Amino acid sequence: MFLDIRELAVRKARIHKHYPPGTIDFHTEDFRQIESLELRATAELLEEQIRIYGEIHTRLEMNCARCLEPVTEEIHREFDLLYRPLKTVGKEIVRLDDEEAEVGFYDGDGIFLADIIAEQVNLAIPMKAICRSDCRGLCPHCGVNMNHEECHCQTHSADPRLAPLARVKQIWFKKQ
Ligand SMILES: [Zn+2]
Ligand SMILES: [Zn+2]
Repeated sequence: MFLDIRELAVRKARIHKHYPPGTIDFHTEDFRQIESLELRATAELLEEQIRIYGEIHTRLEMNCARCLEPVTEEIHREFDLLYRPLKTVGKEIVRLDDEEAEVGFYDGDGIFLADIIAEQVNLAIPMKAICRSDCRGLCPHCGVNMNHEECHCQTHSADPRLAPLARVKQIWFKKQ
């Protein structure tokens, strides 16, 4: 759906839409949408600015930062956003009040709703997903998931950031 300023100039738009997984491009591989995304919002034109406010709700699947197993995250975000037209002077793009974090910009006749949703979902996801607070992660040596099995490595003191690499190695060796 495209929010067209010429339509918003006539009347505000009340939006209630469902987006099945795969219909919005989030421009990331950090998570997967696993449930229909529900959007309820109102869009209106204030002077030349598009104001859109409302809420989104969906479920995502991320990978546990420690053991890489899938983790489900419930996402609910309320937003109230203002988009100003990009003013162009010659070829130069002038961004007014660029320091205001809550203000975005639109180019041309309006803005795509899917772009707004993708941005809001990206802002709503946790920095790190952990499957459970006591997740033991992967053994940095052999890559086994230490929640499920004990490995026979001598120590688990190596850099845990290398664990995903060890896991990839383990999967690769299993395939041989
Ligand atoms: Zn985990
Ligand atoms: Zn091990």
